[in-house]
Amino acid sequence: MTTTKPVVTIENFNITYSTKRSRMTALDGINLTVEQGEFLSIAGPSGCGKSTLLKVVAGLTAATSGQAQRRGQQIKGPRRDIGYVFQRAALLEWRNVRGNILLQAEMRGMDKAKAARRADELIEMTGLGGFEKSFPHELSGGMQQRVSLCRALLHEPDVLLMDEPFGALDALTRERMDIELHRIWRETGTTVILVTHSVAEAAFLANRVVVMSARPGTILETLDVPLGSYRDYAATMEDPDFVRVSARVRELLGASHTAE
Ligand code: ADP
Ligand code: MG
Repeated sequence: MTTTKPVVTIENFNITYSTKRSRMTALDGINLTVEQGEFLSIAGPSGCGKSTLLKVVAGLTAATSGQAQRRGQQIKGPRRDIGYVFQRAALLEWRNVRGNILLQAEMRGMDKAKAARRADELIEMTGLGGFEKSFPHELSGGMQQRVSLCRALLHEPDVLLMDEPFGALDALTRERMDIELHRIWRETGTTVILVTHSVAEAAFLANRVVVMSARPGTILETLDVPLGSYRDYAATMEDPDFVRVSARVRELLGASHTAE
């Protein structure tokens, strides 16, 4: 796509949930722009509206007031031009790796030959080569998330939404997945919005880190991560800019928790 319009524009955005007895503001005065090819991380305490914000971008949740646009067009309903990865890989147990990835093609009625080629590319890119015929129960959590990532990228979505994708993995697997995700982002050029509880993950992967406050969710600060697009993991952990950004994110999250 050649348009220079931002992938996402959110302006003065509020969501209030009303029940018979109470009203609860989930997002309060959110302003956010995401540019083509960016990797944006969102960090914030539980219940501050991070998942809700991703749903806004996906067109699954509407505003109580304010505006949300994709490529300059108002978001009016569910969008098909997204990829979604959740904490649970949500794979079909009776389908093998390839079958799970191609599910996306079947649901969208994609050209079969094109989808098969793209699946092969993604299987190679994500290190799933040799596991095409394996079933979900034969795979580790990290491998399952690779399948979920392939499925989310199959139709070359305009934006990839990731909601705590590696939150259930052990620390070492998570680190490996972060390194691979960063390489895949560089290779595909896909715009990514990632929600995470890990400060290191947020800062290692992103061009910008958005830090949200506890409920009602507001944006406390948006921090640039002034590191190159190629990032060696160990070297990045010691890079003064990385250390500074991480410390600031931690400080903001800490302040936000004590205010709860
Ligand atoms: P996070 O992902 O940051 O943990 P969520 O976006 O899931 O937070 O939720 C933000 C707040 O909005 C929470 O308090 C949650 O209970 C509430 N919420 C989310 N969806 C709904 C809904 N459909 N109806 C009522 N309340 C909701
Ligand atoms: Mg959530």
